[in-house]
Amino acid sequence: MLYSLVQCPKRVELDLFGDPAVRDEVSPFVEMLWQRGTLYESQVMQGGGLVALDLSHAKGDEKERLTLEAMQRGEPLIYSGRICDGDLLGVPDLLRRQGNGYVPIDIKSGRGKEGGGGDDGEDDEGDGNAGKPKLHYAVQLALYVDVLERLGFSAGRRGIILDVHAREVLYDLASARGPKVPLSLWQEYQAVLANAREIVARSQTPRGALASSCKLCHWYSSCTKELRAGDDLTLIPRLGRKIRDAMAPTFPTVAALAATDPEGWITKNKTQFKGVGEKSLMVFHARAVLLTEPMAKPYLKAPITLPRSDVELFFDIEVDPLRDFTYLHGIVERRGGDSADERFVAFFADDETADAERDAFAKSVAYLNSEPAATIWYYSKYERTLYRKLQARYPDVCSAQDIETLFDPKRAIDLYNDVVTKATEWPTHDHSIKTLAKYLGFAWRDSNPSGAASIEWFDRWVRERDPAVKARILDYNEDDCKATRVLLDGIRALTIEG
Ligand code: SF4
Repeated sequence: MLYSLVQCPKRVELDLFGDPAVRDEVSPFVEMLWQRGTLYESQVMQGGGLVALDLSHAKGDEKERLTLEAMQRGEPLIYSGRICDGDLLGVPDLLRRQGNGYVPIDIKSGRGKEGGGGDDGEDDEGDGNAGKPKLHYAVQLALYVDVLERLGFSAGRRGIILDVHAREVLYDLASARGPKVPLSLWQEYQAVLANAREIVARSQTPRGALASSCKLCHWYSSCTKELRAGDDLTLIPRLGRKIRDAMAPTFPTVAALAATDPEGWITKNKTQFKGVGEKSLMVFHARAVLLTEPMAKPYLKAPITLPRSDVELFFDIEVDPLRDFTYLHGIVERRGGDSADERFVAFFADDETADAERDAFAKSVAYLNSEPAATIWYYSKYERTLYRKLQARYPDVCSAQDIETLFDPKRAIDLYNDVVTKATEWPTHDHSIKTLAKYLGFAWRDSNPSGAASIEWFDRWVRERDPAVKARILDYNEDDCKATRVLLDGIRALTIEG
């Protein structure tokens, strides 16, 4: 529960007390994540050379009794135990004896920490300890430590994440997540625990907050319906839960914010709302107005020069972050501005081997370089980040400088960061390529187009080699590339506000 609470307290409340009849189906992507997590855990236990007392066969109270007895005996390593004290219950993947106590270990099929390790935030070559602790991992480990302390079996306030590379990533719960976080992980855990107890006791009813992660939530339909009905401030792009909570007492709805004169809330370049600067308030207000006016149209905030070239390449890649594998490089090529005659070029890694990944990468780089006068359009920094990473992984394909040349901003333009965010406003709830291209009338052929779905399809392709699944991945990627073209053309047609 604490793990989910860090993601969204509303989801915890709905899981406990929501009407199951309005719950959405669990998405195939989330199911795939669960399956892969379980699979990875069993791979680690079977092939990782870990010799542990295996309690995975036991259930409930029996599992708890066996775990307690094992700790009393001083078993060196316990797998799939269960520890409990009062209203606290934990099921750590492993408990490792250290001195007179035990250190909890959770096995995760992802990275142990977030950020750190360079531009792309990866830490593949290090020991896994670079970056910041993930709060949801930290509270889970802290819960185990809390129970162990109460039972008299704690080895100290620390835990370990066994990450996707089977590296041990230490979580020192006495330290903070980062220099700007005033609380230690242990204090953050206690705050989360107090919040959980309030939700369970129904002494607090959390509010939902629209975010990109909501799309994978099984309460998405009913929760977002409620947010829309309440005209919640988080319907405004990039206005999240914390800012909503700071502004809602003054502006409970989007309409209320739209109706105000934002200048009246600014004194000496500051606002009275925690975490909201003068510029942000003006932007949020402008977005609120756009969402409120029935005939609102998108517009340019400032003049912008978009290069024109005879050949335009609309570029999008598909990556499976759990496999850490780039499986598709797709490019829609348009010549002379003629969309009717554009063509789709795709470089697909037919299997999940390094050779296949390298081959697709090499072909894509060669193709992109074959048109040096073309402008390359892509959406978000992800493509450049991944290309730097692929170059480091396959240095025989090209040099680091080749990638910088390829992504020279004079030639390759990140339509999201360099254009949409800086220079445009839209009457939409977010600025994803899906939302903006759909707003402009573009329709994906797939009934469920999303990056998460594409990852799940690739997982199916790996297991089943069904050509229909591969075709679905390619069609989805082609539509993403076309959507980038539709958006570029749409932005070219925008005018300056007023
Ligand atoms: S849809 Fe979003 S806000 Fe609502 S419960 Fe799910 S994650 Fe939370």
